[in-house]
Amino acid sequence: MKSIERITLLGSTGSIGVQTLDIVRRYPDRFRITSLVAHSRWQQLAEQAREFGAESVVIGDTRYYDELKEALRDTSTEVLAGSDAINHVAKSYRSDTVVNALVGYAGLHPTALAIESGKRIALANKETLVVAGDLIMKEARRKGVDILPIDSEHSAIMQCLDGERREAVRNLIITCSGGALRDMAREELANVTPEMALRHPQWSMGAKITIDSSTLVNKGFEVIEARWLFDMAPERIKVVIHPQSIVHSMVEFTDGAIKAQLGSADMHTPISYALLYPERATEPQEDFSILNHPTLSFSEVDHAKYPALGIAYECLERGGTAACVMNGANEVAVAAFLGHKCGYLDIVGAIRYALDNASFVAHPTLADYDASNIEARELARRYLKL
Ligand code: NDP
Ligand code: MG
Repeated sequence: MKSIERITLLGSTGSIGVQTLDIVRRYPDRFRITSLVAHSRWQQLAEQAREFGAESVVIGDTRYYDELKEALRDTSTEVLAGSDAINHVAKSYRSDTVVNALVGYAGLHPTALAIESGKRIALANKETLVVAGDLIMKEARRKGVDILPIDSEHSAIMQCLDGERREAVRNLIITCSGGALRDMAREELANVTPEMALRHPQWSMGAKITIDSSTLVNKGFEVIEARWLFDMAPERIKVVIHPQSIVHSMVEFTDGAIKAQLGSADMHTPISYALLYPERATEPQEDFSILNHPTLSFSEVDHAKYPALGIAYECLERGGTAACVMNGANEVAVAAFLGHKCGYLDIVGAIRYALDNASFVAHPTLADYDASNIEARELARRYLKL
């Protein structure tokens, strides 16, 4: 019988966080929640803490500390607040695994600290690898820490690579739904509103990643994520449009064979794969029949419509802090777009401006990434006149 795995869940109130708790709920003999971390949704966090008997909770935004503390007054759950407290639980000896489902740059330091303290990491926070994939993977190898991807494309690739020899891999093929605006002409994009871009055809996700999916910034980030996670040269990472979101990604081998992983567009599968690896969930979250999907189609990306994908490859080519700049500028621009403070095309405009004007560090430390992130955000704000 396996011993119970103690889990710290960062971002428990988000889309991935809630689905992670669904898996934990299904396997009470396998997992125990040690700490839960959220940013603002303190009521939901308090309910989760009660249900799962968390030893500690952290609310990132310190303004909600008093309410959260009061809501958990009659429990033994320790209540903490602020980013130092998030870092504290990320490296706490009380857990074996950190599930990082934070959104944005905020996920980087907790991942680095969890690696430093030797924990297994189930990683949804792709920004960690986009910003600092080189450094993070080197540290993970040095510490002998496993980083298990939750992102569905990377989970698919990991499943396809299982049991294969590295030398036999020719290309990784990442599939892309095309996002909410895939049927819209390039000329119409200038008038896109947040409401339009938030209507993702297949996946139900947090707001930021849904916008990133529509611009293909998300796909660009996934190329960068794959480059570091699987130590693969960028020119061997391809992207194809696959509107049905049934093939979650593929690996092409030297003999011409292609392996793919298929299934419903449901994040419970990659989450359970990461948590239970090398075992698998004993039953699916929802039934899926391939017979309901008689048509699977694949096509090339229109780079004129989606310049962000090319920019991500450019960042890999430049290396150093380039992808950190792309990420920082994107975070500011997406938040501005969601707040109706800039237009849709300004998102990629802000990324371009930041990349063209930011300083560059070729071999950054974590402190260099922090500085680069701040600079990128300032540049984006300047471009957007915020
Ligand atoms: P959500 O926006 O739904 O959730 C984000 C979580 O992080 C919430 O718990 C939020 O807290 C918390 N949070 C946000 N900002 C901060 C901060 N500054 N400090 C601490 N906590 C913070 O995001 P998703 O679940 O959609 O995405 C999480 C990550 O997973 C992202 O990196 C995304 O790219 C990746 N991912 C998501 C997929 C999906 O299907 N959703 C698929 C593949 C990858 P609160 O809500 O309380 O404010
Ligand atoms: Mg994905």
